[in-house]
Amino acid sequence: MFKTALHAFITAVKGLRITLAHLVGARRSRKALDVRKADYFTNQDGVTTVQFPREKMPIPEVARYQLDVEIDDCIVCDLCAKACPVDCITIESIKATDVIGKTSDGSVKRLYAAKFDIDMAKCMYCGLCTVVCPTECITMTDQYDRSTPRLADLTYSFAEMAPEEIAAKKREWAAFQAEKEAAKGR
Ligand code: SF4
Ligand code: SF4
Repeated sequence: MFKTALHAFITAVKGLRITLAHLVGARRSRKALDVRKADYFTNQDGVTTVQFPREKMPIPEVARYQLDVEIDDCIVCDLCAKACPVDCITIESIKATDVIGKTSDGSVKRLYAAKFDIDMAKCMYCGLCTVVCPTECITMTDQYDRSTPRLADLTYSFAEMAPEEIAAKKREWAAFQAEKEAAKGR
C-alpha cells in the first residue's frame, strides 16, 4: 500500500511539473495580446483570454454571423430560398396588379412579401443566399450573440405586412385575375 501511495505521489508530481513547464514556456514564447488592438488578427503569436460577455472578440471583416434582410430592397424573387442548402428560408409572395415601387438599386418591385422567415437554428452560415441575391439586400452581419432559451426565437421574420393587408392584397390580385378572365370571354 505504501508503495502504491508513493507511486501515485510521484506520478502527480511529474504531471504537475509538465503542466508548469508548459505554462511557463507558453508565457515565455508567446506574449499576451489585447483583443481591442487593431492588429489583433494579423498578430498570430500571442495568447489571450476573453472575459465574455464583459469582453467580446473583435469581428473580422469577412465574418459570417446572423443574417439580416433589408426588406424594402427585396424583390421577393425567392432566389435566396432556392439557393439555401438546408431550406431555412421561407418566403411567401403575393402578386401585385402593377409595379409597387423600386429598390435602392433601381430594381422594379412587383411582388409583396407576405412572409420572409429565416430559421437561424437551421442555418449553416454558408452565405450562399447572400451571393445569389440580385439586390444584395440579404447580408451576413457581425451579430453573433443572440442566445435564447426558446428555439422559436431563432426564426427571424422580416416581412412587415399585417394579416389584414395580406388578405386585401390577395383579394386585389384575385379580382384582377377574374376581371382579366371575364375580358377574355367577351
Ligand atoms: S447562410 Fe446558407 S444555410 Fe444560412 S440561410 Fe443562407 S443559404 Fe441558407
Ligand atoms: S434573393 Fe434577395 S431579393 Fe430575392 S427574395 Fe431573397 S432577399 Fe429578396
